[in-house]
Amino acid sequence: AKERGKDDYQKYLPTLRTKRDEKLSIEKRVRVAIAQKSFQVYYQPQIDLREKRVVGLEALLRWTDKKLGVISPSVFIPIAEESGLISSIGDWVLEEACLQAKKWSEKGFTMRMGINISPIQFQRPDFVSKVKSILRDTGLNPQLLDLEITENVLLYNREECAKTLTRLKELGIQISIDDFGTGYSSLSYLRQFPIDTLKIDKSFILEVLDNSNDQAIVTSIIQLAHNMNMRVIAEGVESTEMIPFLNDRECDEMQGFLYSKPLPANEVTSFVAKTEPS
Ligand code: C2E
Ligand code: CA
Ligand code: CA
Ligand code: CA
Repeated sequence: AKERGKDDYQKYLPTLRTKRDEKLSIEKRVRVAIAQKSFQVYYQPQIDLREKRVVGLEALLRWTDKKLGVISPSVFIPIAEESGLISSIGDWVLEEACLQAKKWSEKGFTMRMGINISPIQFQRPDFVSKVKSILRDTGLNPQLLDLEITENVLLYNREECAKTLTRLKELGIQISIDDFGTGYSSLSYLRQFPIDTLKIDKSFILEVLDNSNDQAIVTSIIQLAHNMNMRVIAEGVESTEMIPFLNDRECDEMQGFLYSKPLPANEVTSFVAKTEPS
């Protein structure tokens, strides 16, 4: 047993070390990327199911590092959160996406702009004033700004959280719950906080046509949202067969590779124009 213990230890240590090294080198490069402003924002269309047109966009970070290559946000965002770098990245995304949304609305493309907010960013005491000053500086209509938070954010410090959400609502912006159904919170928070939209997590959507449990969950989330006067968006819609399923349940909007993957800013207006009824 002793021998095996030693083997396990030796097998385990190198992977631990490389994981840690990898994290550190990504963190270093994230710092460089912040300084050089070398992140990009892509935009994924959100389509109204009845009108079949783009009514919103979700801003998603993209990063190709000179040394490390393409790094997914699901890899570098958690590292940026741990090292406290997420606030400067998050502020930059807010500015960039609001500015972009304002430009598009001036050209006649009036779409909601959904922006992912990390829990750390949301909990900062100056978050609301940051949002306020970005709205002022960009001149974006606050009703077009939609902040996506996850339900876990609402678990801690409920009072502070309610205050922050109320102050954000007073600015006139919208609040969405991202990855709905995957968090650890109870449903009771839905009546305590001012929430406009539920985004059904893609893990419930991807195989929904083959899985009756997923069907029950998706059907219930749509009903719940509507009974509470909230909008509901299905994420991860990849196949045309999904459309009748979502239509039957009167889901409001969908987002997914079926319609479009996230697009660089310069491809958005031509995509949107294509889906406008002529
Ligand atoms: P998320 O907020 O849940 O974003 C949706 C993710 O699903 C995106 O991955 C998107 O590309 C992907 N997706 C969209 N449609 C489909 C589909 O039909 N099928 C499948 N399989 N996937 C689809 P992405 O861009 O890699 O982002 C991953 C996560 O990184 C995001 O998940 C979000 O949690 C985080 N993230 C991205 N940008 C930001 C940001 O600016 N700030 C913060 N705090 N987090 C961000
Ligand atoms: Ca999101
Ligand atoms: Ca999501
Ligand atoms: Ca997510």
